Amino acid sequence: MSPFVDIHTHHKIDRKDLIAIRNIDVDNLADIDVSSFYSLGIHPWSLSQQTTDNGQQSLSHLSNSATRRLGDLLTRRLGDSNFLALGETGLDRVAAHDFETQKKLFIKHIELSEQYNKPLIIHCVRAYPDIISIRKETKARQPWIIHGFRANVQTAEQLLRHEIYISLGDVLFKDEEKSKRLLVTIPSERLFLETDVSERNIEDIYEKAASIIGKDIEVLSRDIFNNFEKIFGKI
Ligand SMILES: [Zn+2]
Repeated sequence: MSPFVDIHTHHKIDRKDLIAIRNIDVDNLADIDVSSFYSLGIHPWSLSQQTTDNGQQSLSHLSNSATRRLGDLLTRRLGDSNFLALGETGLDRVAAHDFETQKKLFIKHIELSEQYNKPLIIHCVRAYPDIISIRKETKARQPWIIHGFRANVQTAEQLLRHEIYISLGDVLFKDEEKSKRLLVTIPSERLFLETDVSERNIEDIYEKAASIIGKDIEVLSRDIFNNFEKIFGKI
């Protein structure tokens, strides 16, 4: 059976029998562990946190220093074979305050992603039209993975039309009807699964997804493993 792939997790996973991409925020470098796969980025929430902490500093200043740190770190890490992707980064219309600053930071991630051939892991809340128009405007070619997707089928269809991958996690346990519609809509060659911040095992998430659509878990894990290898190469 193909190994399970956890495309986005905030946990340190010390297991050799599965593939997990651990998220590391550039501002949390104490956390960096290069012994397994990871992604590096600046979360839109982390920027707004900094803004609140440093009220006197301007947003553009913060965004510039954050992107500089990201660029520096990225070039230092380029030779590391465990450094797989950029992110999570993205756009959030609900939780963080300045949308234009988020956009700037997101576009910086896209530029780096294209320049260094690193796929992008994206956090998106109520900003899907922006994500799609930015993909068109920047003519980005790197694979994009929307993590923790929980929007509707129509939004999923629009993302799929722009060759974007969709990763599901928590939604599978919260809304079975919607999850079923999503799992029927998203072709297996564009699907990923993830634990994100949850305490669930990736096995439970595979089992849940497989049972919702009545699919053999071995077939599901093979399909998702193929997606992983297509994007990140053979491991
Ligand atoms: Zn996350």
